[in-house]
Amino acid sequence: MSERIAVVEEIMGANDRLAAQNRKRLDEAGVLAINIMASPGAGKTSLIERTVRELAKDLEIAVVDGDVATGIDAERAARAGAHAVQINTGGECHLDAVMMQSAFDQIDLNQIDLVIIENVGNLICPAGFKLGAHKNVLIASIPEGDDKPYKYPAMYRGVDALVINKIDLRPYVQFDMDYFKHGVATLNPGLQSFPVSCQTGDGLLAWYTWLRTLIG
Ligand code: MG
Ligand code: ZN
Repeated sequence: MSERIAVVEEIMGANDRLAAQNRKRLDEAGVLAINIMASPGAGKTSLIERTVRELAKDLEIAVVDGDVATGIDAERAARAGAHAVQINTGGECHLDAVMMQSAFDQIDLNQIDLVIIENVGNLICPAGFKLGAHKNVLIASIPEGDDKPYKYPAMYRGVDALVINKIDLRPYVQFDMDYFKHGVATLNPGLQSFPVSCQTGDGLLAWYTWLRTLIG
């Protein structure tokens, strides 16, 4: 094994161990955590905003926002009614288990039912870093195009649910849904998916129901 590979494996091993500690901490506090990943502009913050507005009626929600530089998304989550924690990654293009640990230090997990993590907008390395979340969710959006499963297989392979956002734009954008779904099914057979529009609200009820069922 080359030295470089050994170093990378050591880093990933340390991250996985810390992710397992994060998970234990969530489980002890009885908190469900979901990690939302997507490319920039797919609608992570919009989905989180709408989800918080709906579920905060009867649940305590914390949103952990990973962003390279700004706090704009965390402010939106806070206005929607969540306890918001901003992580500026200082240029890093993904969240990792260390950042998540420090975010959890800023939340009273015993008061929380659901933690929603907004990962950095990127379809590559967020797939490789476990955080300790119970479910990894990917948002794809219609304007991104139907070829994304073919181009970013690791991301599609590793998630527990897929939200297909901006379905209201289908009449205006070239997007072959069969081609897209074939790519998804090849990588992740039976993947739970939610076609939605965070603009019109279409399809969101099924998403909320899925989350509520997980929280129990
Ligand atoms: Mg965002
Ligand atoms: Zn990265």
